[in-house]
Amino acid sequence: MRESRIKKTKTVCTYCGVGCSFDVWTKDRKILKVEPQMEAPANGISTCIKGKFGWDFVNSEERLTKPLIREGDSFREAEWEEALALIEGKFREAKDTYGPDSMAFISSSKCTNEESYLMQKLARGVIGTNNVDNCSRYCQTPATVGLFRTVGYGGDSGSITDIEQAELVIVVGSNTSESHPVLATRVKRSHKLKGQKLIVSDLRKHEMADRADLFIQPRAGTDLVWLSAVTKYIVEQGWADESFLSNRVNGLDDYVKSLEKYTMEYAEQVTGLPKEMMIQVAEAVHEADTTSVLWAMGVTQHSGGSDTSTAISNLLLITGNYGKPGAGSYPLRGHNNVQGASDFGSMPDRFPGYEKVADDAVRAKYEKGWGVKIPADPGLNNHEMVSGIHAGDVKVMYLKGEDMGLVDSNLNYVHEAFEKLDFFVVQDIFLSKTAQYADVVLPAAPSFEKEGTFTNTERRIQRLYQVFEPLGDSKPDWQIIMEVANRLGAGWTYNHPSEIMAEAASLMPLYAGVTYDRLSGYNSLQWPVASDGTDSPLLFLDEFPFPDGKARLFPVEWTKPLEYEEEYDLHVNNGRLLEHFHEGNMTYKSKGITSKTPSVFLEVSPELAAERGLEDGTVVRLTSPHGSVKVPCLVTDRVKGKEVYLPMNDSDEGAINYLTSSHADKDTDTPAYKEISAKMEIL
Ligand code: SF4
Repeated sequence: MRESRIKKTKTVCTYCGVGCSFDVWTKDRKILKVEPQMEAPANGISTCIKGKFGWDFVNSEERLTKPLIREGDSFREAEWEEALALIEGKFREAKDTYGPDSMAFISSSKCTNEESYLMQKLARGVIGTNNVDNCSRYCQTPATVGLFRTVGYGGDSGSITDIEQAELVIVVGSNTSESHPVLATRVKRSHKLKGQKLIVSDLRKHEMADRADLFIQPRAGTDLVWLSAVTKYIVEQGWADESFLSNRVNGLDDYVKSLEKYTMEYAEQVTGLPKEMMIQVAEAVHEADTTSVLWAMGVTQHSGGSDTSTAISNLLLITGNYGKPGAGSYPLRGHNNVQGASDFGSMPDRFPGYEKVADDAVRAKYEKGWGVKIPADPGLNNHEMVSGIHAGDVKVMYLKGEDMGLVDSNLNYVHEAFEKLDFFVVQDIFLSKTAQYADVVLPAAPSFEKEGTFTNTERRIQRLYQVFEPLGDSKPDWQIIMEVANRLGAGWTYNHPSEIMAEAASLMPLYAGVTYDRLSGYNSLQWPVASDGTDSPLLFLDEFPFPDGKARLFPVEWTKPLEYEEEYDLHVNNGRLLEHFHEGNMTYKSKGITSKTPSVFLEVSPELAAERGLEDGTVVRLTSPHGSVKVPCLVTDRVKGKEVYLPMNDSDEGAINYLTSSHADKDTDTPAYKEISAKMEIL
């Protein structure tokens, strides 16, 4: 009897940090359907439109199936041997001529944990530089820093089920229903059916704001001020959790002193929020036994993104909202594996598991494990790499799976940097905007064509299984990195990603007990995972990971957002659309998605439309001091006054980052994407 070609394979969605998993039914290379299962830990039987219909790109005719080598202004196809030999020669030449720090490596938050591990191992262990980073630098590094300062781990403090059972959920600067749709559904369900209270703070009246019991709209970039005023008010009312503070937290006196300036009057003046509204927030936190705070790019992508994240964590500490079910801090991770890319050491100052590069004992552990010497000084982050290229210090870049030429800020400056590189290798599934600047483009395989693990926003590690064979001559990223490393003498012998995980787990205490067996099927683990496989759905039950086991209140100061000349009179907010993923490399090539939302639009308020004569479809040019975009308008009361909103999902004339600047969060260099002003002309 002829064997059936229909099969089902368990995979994990690559479109956001919720980490939905589901079965994919296929026949040959045809995707028949996506079928979520009850046993899926993060989503059960739910997915959003992207998880359900966003997969046609895997079979797109635009997929890269051969290595490409630049010839003048175009590319020619090549065999792997030729492409790898060229890379080997150029990498050796740069290292010998200019030293290892003349080279820079970018990992991908879309790739697997094992692939991030290998990229940083290549940089550190084979080349000898700590110049390695990933796209969390563009989004969530400030949240990680805020949590490291206060509670010691940078990830979500509990699980999605904790958010679901919180008595109060506060959402700050997150369009959760479009950016993390399945997680938002669980909040909406608790709010509607279980009496959960919902407070939303944002510039834009999105769906979660519409549903909230209280919606507050502070001025852009002022969240730290109202959060601190609310915390101060709670302390003054005697509503702080005295027992939690005395037993589990350090630094109370200095912190309370630091709050002195955050009076209600000062907060009213800076944020534009009425005092009564901030008192309502304080009362809601006081009345709830458990509060969970969710936040995203509306907080982090500012000059003071790390400090505002810290202020959120301070509020939770003051009110004893850590270490109990239903409470805690939830920075919502954007990419599917932005958590894992950082967990596995694709950061210039941290090894896998966040152990410091500068720590001699940790470095010695990796040197012994890998049989190499590793430099002690932290390397360059993404932002510094671009300046480093302009300064002539960085000569060679190897970038996988990120369209930095669209997602970094101040694109004209980034593109000029790419043109200055001596040699640029890009590894991707499509000829992305970034790849168009490359000297060699290597064809990679998407998640459906490889095995590995992802770690979602709740620190949950899950396996994905291979649905299809890689298309054409494309290969999984881990195989390509290994081939590059071995050309340079590494001698790696991994046959499967499970062997990479086994090596990583032996070196990183955070993942000590992670094995592929323990992750089989829909099984998952949430870090830290002890060597016996015990995992940690809820952190800080007994202690915080500091030497004395106590958390730390961390005083912070408000940083004023970037100010523009008067002629740039519109504030340009930006973020995701439900249907599209980032620059749209994948979703625009999926018919089920593009049929619904074929292009982006600029949201303008009814007031602005009346003042400037704008209608739905009016094409305008927005110009900032850094560049301009061309985009059609959509008139909507989601925005008000001179606030406009441009989704980040255009890869052409409407790409938001032609407007953004190189100005960044002062602690992490995360671009202040949300601090842009522009002027408008009708075309
Ligand atoms: Fe994918 Fe996120 Fe949608 Fe889940 S919520 S299906 S992970 S995009």
